[in-house]
Amino acid sequence: MTIEEFLTQLTRIFFVLLMVITLVDYLRYRDRVRRDVALVFVSLSVNIIIIIFVQATGLQLPWLLRLGAVAVLAQPYLLLRLVRYLRPVPRLLYRGAVLAMIASWVLVLIFQGEFPPPVLLLIIAYFVAIDGYTVLAFFRGGSASTGVVRHRLTYAAAGSGLLVVALFLVGVRLVLPDPSFARTILTSLIQLAAILSTLAYYLAFASPRWLRQMWQMLELKRYLEEIRSLENRTVAGMVDLLHQSVARAMDTDMIVIALWDDTAQVLEPQRTIKNVSPADFDAEGVVWQAWRDRTPIARQQRYLTGADAQVMQKLDAETLFVVPLITSDRAIGLVMVFLRFGSLFVDDDLRLLEIYAQQTVTMLENFEMVEKLHHQAEALELKVQERTKALQRSNDELRQFAYIASHDLQEPLRTVSNYLQLIESRYPDKLDDAGREFIAFAVDGAVRMKNLINALLTYSRIDSRERKITLVDCQKVVDEVQRLLEATIKEAEADITIDNMPKIRADEQLLVQLFQNLISNAIKYHGTEKPKIQVSAVRDKNFWRFSVQDNGIGIEPQYMERIFVIFQRLHLQTEYPGTGIGLAICKKVVELHGGRIWVESEAGKGTTFLFTLPATG
Ligand code: ADP
Repeated sequence: MTIEEFLTQLTRIFFVLLMVITLVDYLRYRDRVRRDVALVFVSLSVNIIIIIFVQATGLQLPWLLRLGAVAVLAQPYLLLRLVRYLRPVPRLLYRGAVLAMIASWVLVLIFQGEFPPPVLLLIIAYFVAIDGYTVLAFFRGGSASTGVVRHRLTYAAAGSGLLVVALFLVGVRLVLPDPSFARTILTSLIQLAAILSTLAYYLAFASPRWLRQMWQMLELKRYLEEIRSLENRTVAGMVDLLHQSVARAMDTDMIVIALWDDTAQVLEPQRTIKNVSPADFDAEGVVWQAWRDRTPIARQQRYLTGADAQVMQKLDAETLFVVPLITSDRAIGLVMVFLRFGSLFVDDDLRLLEIYAQQTVTMLENFEMVEKLHHQAEALELKVQERTKALQRSNDELRQFAYIASHDLQEPLRTVSNYLQLIESRYPDKLDDAGREFIAFAVDGAVRMKNLINALLTYSRIDSRERKITLVDCQKVVDEVQRLLEATIKEAEADITIDNMPKIRADEQLLVQLFQNLISNAIKYHGTEKPKIQVSAVRDKNFWRFSVQDNGIGIEPQYMERIFVIFQRLHLQTEYPGTGIGLAICKKVVELHGGRIWVESEAGKGTTFLFTLPATG
């Protein structure tokens, strides 16, 4: 077998194979599109089969060969019919194709299949013209769509294009002298074009599943990228993107996207055309069937009735795709796509819409989740704000009360003690010893009360006073405290050591109060030995941990919490004088700075007050 013969056989086998595949496909689905696709390849292959049969059997069956020629001559017309699924074919062209087909059949009868070259050229012109038109139509259809359909239509255009080239070359070969070198070359080129044409047709009309899946994946990837780059990440933004992508993929602007409104219990159109809404369709019709069954459906106008058909008429649409938007547990919306003409690869179009729908739903679900979280966070924030406000209000009221109370109480108290002292000085003779003693008690009580009120005032001022946060050298603070307590320290012969005082950002005035209270307590609550006090600080991550350690009387464990509460004391005035407010102030100062205060102690051995304050840098 020569190469030439081999190529001829290969082309023949390819075409027969294509016929078988498309026929099987048609028999499986039995729809008009698949029938028309199969017919194109039947027309091409019947002739091949007949030739092979005649050659193999050696029978003289001229009528059979003529039948084969008749079949081949229908190819341009049949191919043109496929174009009608994509876009309308000009009537004149369509009629011309039919006429040319019939005319060439007549010629077959007249010339018994043995055409003289001029007739053959005429027939070739018919092929080239009609097939050439289909090339353009397929190509335009391909560039106006995306995904699998784009690839398939482009290959269809290539298949027809190569067929046109092959036929054109056959025409050229006819006018060349025989034998000639150019003719031999042309023959090979014709065979090459024919083989490539079958390959392209194969990819277009019988594309293997894996290839279509790959094209689908590529489209899915593209759509996901689009979603990712979406700036308006809201439901409306997503609906917009879906609308755009579907419009581009299906080459149509007739798209309705409706979302389920839970409160109104309706499918509310978000995007529509000519006010079409799912409510316009028959309750038993294809749209609601797709919604109820949660399955995508494609339907041609001629199979629709009632309200469904009316909507199609209103839109002048030929094909309808209905794709529900389904989450894992419910249908949340519906996409309807109307095509003015039809679709050559309905299943691929439907699958593409399904992919868009799935991805859109996934994104919408994400948005919903994010939005829900957002709402929850907002609600929480609101609650916190409310509580904080309430707390602030009650704090303010308390502070105001403490201030007014302590301030206003001082006046009558002064009156009481003044008059008591007046009685004592004016009537020294009229009072006996018991009377003088009672008055002394009363005066003493008034003094104590004055101290308490002053302490309360100091305490309440800590909050009301504006804080002045600066970089404070704690060494200086402790020095200042020692200066303030100079007399007390001397009197108690206290030994105070100070270690490693840091610089921190704080309110200096408050720090003075803090250290003053702790150091004066350490001196006051000394035991039998002379007070030995150590003030130091260590760095603990973001904090400085300060300690004021003494060798005093110590504190029983059960009182360690209580002593920080205002007016809580563990001793009688006669044992150790005081107001019970010092540690309450300390706690407040530390907490105002974001720290914590606590005590470690062993009764009889000494006490260590520890507190933390935030470190700077
Ligand atoms: P005040 O010293 O005026 O009583 P504080 O609030 O400063 O009030 O102290 C509360 C109580 O804590 C004191 O009455 C005392 O019993 C106990 N306390 C405070 N500091 C020491 C200390 N360094 N050693 C032993 N007990 C202490």
